[in-house]
Formats: sequence, structure tokens, C-alpha cells
Amino acid sequence: AAVAQLADWNGTGATADGHRVKVYGNVGSPADAQAAADAGAEGVGLFRTEFCYLDAADEPTVADQRAAYTAVLSPFRGKPVIVRTLDAGADKPLAFLSPEAEPNPALGVRGLRVAFDRPEVLDRQLEAIAGAAEDSGAEVSVMAPMVATVEEAAWFAERVRAAGIARAGVMIEIPAAALSAREILEAVDFVSVGTNDLAQYTFAADRQLGAVAKLNDPWQPALLRLLKLIGDAAKATGKPAGVCGEAAADPRLALVLAGLGLTSLSMNAPAIRAVGASLAAATLAECEALAEATLATSNPTAARTAARP
Ligand code: PEP
Ligand code: MG
Repeated sequence: AAVAQLADWNGTGATADGHRVKVYGNVGSPADAQAAADAGAEGVGLFRTEFCYLDAADEPTVADQRAAYTAVLSPFRGKPVIVRTLDAGADKPLAFLSPEAEPNPALGVRGLRVAFDRPEVLDRQLEAIAGAAEDSGAEVSVMAPMVATVEEAAWFAERVRAAGIARAGVMIEIPAAALSAREILEAVDFVSVGTNDLAQYTFAADRQLGAVAKLNDPWQPALLRLLKLIGDAAKATGKPAGVCGEAAADPRLALVLAGLGLTSLSMNAPAIRAVGASLAAATLAECEALAEATLATSNPTAARTAARP
């Protein structure tokens, strides 16, 4: 297996026996998108649109957003891309959206929650995304950040469809959403797991705080058990469930995620080839055995050991 992992990746994400696990790029700028395309990404699993506006004082116009998104999506003409609507707040405040002061910004009005009070901002962004889909020729889906309930997921999907965008999904990054993965998948077209926030909220450990970083280890068995619920929901509904948090960038953990039933992995460009090659070197049955072995452990060190070649 070690030799196979060093071999070149053929660019189609799949296990050794042909089970498809799509390998996508995470992007936030035209440079990121070009790097992901150059690294062989099959598409974009997460376009963090808020990265375009971290310094903006005012809401960008629809025309400005349309141009900015088109510049990012253009390397992916004819390929699937998932555009995430603005994830403002907590670690990524936007001047024109984030509330002035909250005692706990990570638990406050962030992500999709901002849109409940100001749906017109969401609708303008959706209009811009639909335009960028046309201009770039990419196969665009849209997803919402920070969704907690089925009702929120259904509300978002309805607005996406009203904007003329065919595919609507949501991120699963709040434990409540993971526990309702099946019902949420029934309301939308796909889900994508944000393991960075899902770990933060599962372990009650601030993702920006080094002192609690050990709790946010993506190999934590409790996190893997939540991921299993999501993989099971994907199998039960026949709808895609990806991972776009940091967990997807670890070539060994990628096998565990495939074994849990996740159907796409999205990561920063430098990890793409290693993850593609890792998947190509193991069969689905081997991935499932690794998943089962890690789920049976009680700490991240034991989980890593259980997943060794
Ligand atoms: C995540 O939370 O894992 C995620 C992919 O989104 P972000 O890192 O942008 O919060
Ligand atoms: Mg997140």
C-alpha cells in the first residue's frame, strides 16, 4: 500500500475497487481555485464566499458579487462546485452583517442565522450566484452554513430554488444537525460536514484556542460516531454527504470517512493528490474495516493506531 500511495493519482476519486469518493477543493479566491484545479480537484466542495468580503465595509452589489464569484468559478467550467452562502460571524465577522457585540459570538447570530433577520441579503447573494453560474459555466450548487434544524434547511432550500438554482444543500456542523442528518437530507439535495465547527460544538472547545486544540482532534471517536450517523443517513436516502472540514485532508482519515459512507471529500489544494492516491490504494471493504476499528476505540491515539496500514 505504501508504494501505491506514492504513485501518481489518476484524477478520479475512487477506492481501489472503484467505489467513487469525489475529491474536491476548498477555495476562497481565484488563486485558490486555480491551485485546486492545477492539483486535480474534480470540482469545488466548498467556496467560502465570505472570504471575498472580510475587508468590505458595505454589502457588495449583486453585480460585484457576480463578478467576484465568476472569477473563482471559472477554472471549473463544466464541473461541480458548491458555493456556500456568507458564513459571517464568530471567527469570520463581516462589517456589514455581523452584530455589534454578543457575549458568545460562536453561539450567536452567525452563518445562516443572519439571513433569518435579513433575507434580502441572502436573496441578493443567490441572484449573484445564479448569474456567476451562467457566466462561469460551472455546475453550481449552493449550501448554507451553520444549520441547526430541519426547518432551517427546508427554509433555505426553498429560497435557493426560488432563485432558480437547481441544487440546494446545507452544512452539518452543529451536533443537532448531525443527529437529524436523515431528516435534513430528506429536505435538501446534499449535505457537507464541516468538521472544524462540528468538533468545536461537540467538544465545547473554541476552535481558535490553542489550549483546547487536543479536544478538536478530528480523530476523536465521538466525532467519528457523529460522522457515522451522517454516512448512514446518506446510505438510507441515497443522497450525497461530503466532508469539507480539515478532517478530509488527512489521507488516512479519508479512508475512514469513505468507510463511514461519506461520498466526497473537499480540502485545500496541497492535500488533494495525497488523498486521491490514498483512496486509490484501499478497497471499500478495507475502508469499512478501518471505520469499524476506529469507532471501537476510546481516544484519538487509539483511533489513529487502529487505522494504521
Ligand atoms: C468547518 O466548519 O469545518 C468548515 C468547513 O467551515 P469553516 O471552516 O469555514 O467554518
Ligand atoms: Mg464552519
